[in-house]
Amino acid sequence: MEIVRRQQLKEKPAKGTALGFGHYFTDYMFTMKYTKEKGWHDAKVEPNEPKAFDLATSIFHYAQGIFEGMKAFRQPDGSIAVFRPEENWARMNRSATRMCIPNFPADVAQEGLETLLKLDKDWIPSEPGTALYIRPTIVATRVMLGVHASTEYLFFIILSPVGSYYAHGLEPTKLIVEDRYTRATIGGTGEAKCLGNYAASMKAGEEAEEKGFDQVLWLDANEKKYVEEVGSMNMFFVIGGEVVTPALVGSILPGITRKSCIQVLKDKGIPVSERRISIDEVIAAQQNGTLDEAFGTGTAAVISPVGLIRYRDKDYVIGGGKMGRITKMLYDTITGIQYGTAPDVYGWRRPVR
Ligand SMILES: *Cc1c(COP(=O)(O)O)cnc(C)c1O
Repeated sequence: MEIVRRQQLKEKPAKGTALGFGHYFTDYMFTMKYTKEKGWHDAKVEPNEPKAFDLATSIFHYAQGIFEGMKAFRQPDGSIAVFRPEENWARMNRSATRMCIPNFPADVAQEGLETLLKLDKDWIPSEPGTALYIRPTIVATRVMLGVHASTEYLFFIILSPVGSYYAHGLEPTKLIVEDRYTRATIGGTGEAKCLGNYAASMKAGEEAEEKGFDQVLWLDANEKKYVEEVGSMNMFFVIGGEVVTPALVGSILPGITRKSCIQVLKDKGIPVSERRISIDEVIAAQQNGTLDEAFGTGTAAVISPVGLIRYRDKDYVIGGGKMGRITKMLYDTITGIQYGTAPDVYGWRRPVR
């Protein structure tokens, strides 16, 4: 892999800085180009510096672009490991197919990522709960107006040292059920990690924040009846000892943390089902005392307990507003594998050497 070195390294955030999420970026990035003639080519690691684009570049007009989110974790011996990257590459190529973007070679992306991580190793924080967030992205770069799939693309990976996704850390989050705006419809792009989905969700997110909520809990677009997910997390409910998560019906992002949690639950013999679950069922369970826990799962927030849900102007407290037993078990199991403090029984930890 070609490496273009920087003259001077950037200043890193001082030890003990509250990193937050997505504020700092490392010295290097990985890039690779696509043209119709050459396919994917020119893979290299280069300094992470601003690039210039013509304003007629198609990504600016039609959002033909996709992204991924994964993390690299500092291990107890100082080495680096990434959590299930092959799953992210596979999902990214599925997103690409949905958005008319040519599939990329996952082995080149993985080699690029590893080269990048080794160069930017010193940016991986080591305080508890921190990680190096990895953001692979593909954008359409053809300079042309006209609603057509681009014939040129840029694939890049940038890295950001992060702390906790929510400002309040592992404190249970507050969700508001959204029953006017829609995130995704069946036949739409909700299953793909594509840029436009997130622009479409921002209005509801802003209104939720103004009311003091962390995130929106989305319902299905058709009936506004079934729970789908949160803006960047899949949802789980523990009802009467059974763990329930909405089935992947086509409008829900197939989370890798979600998939990992389902596997852990199955292996521990905890009943878990992927099915449709209505918001009425969730509220009824809260009212009859069988809703023990609710939590969200995602790379950025890992496992995030939900302490309160507002639906139609009523607030429903879950699990006394505290992190529940199953939520805690999943958090400990997944983070134990990620941070290398527990045995990697599933082979989910990919060491970078
Ligand atoms: C990325 C994302 C998730 C979580 O997926 P992970 O693979 O677990 O990180 C869930 N929902 C949406 C809408 C997302 O964009």
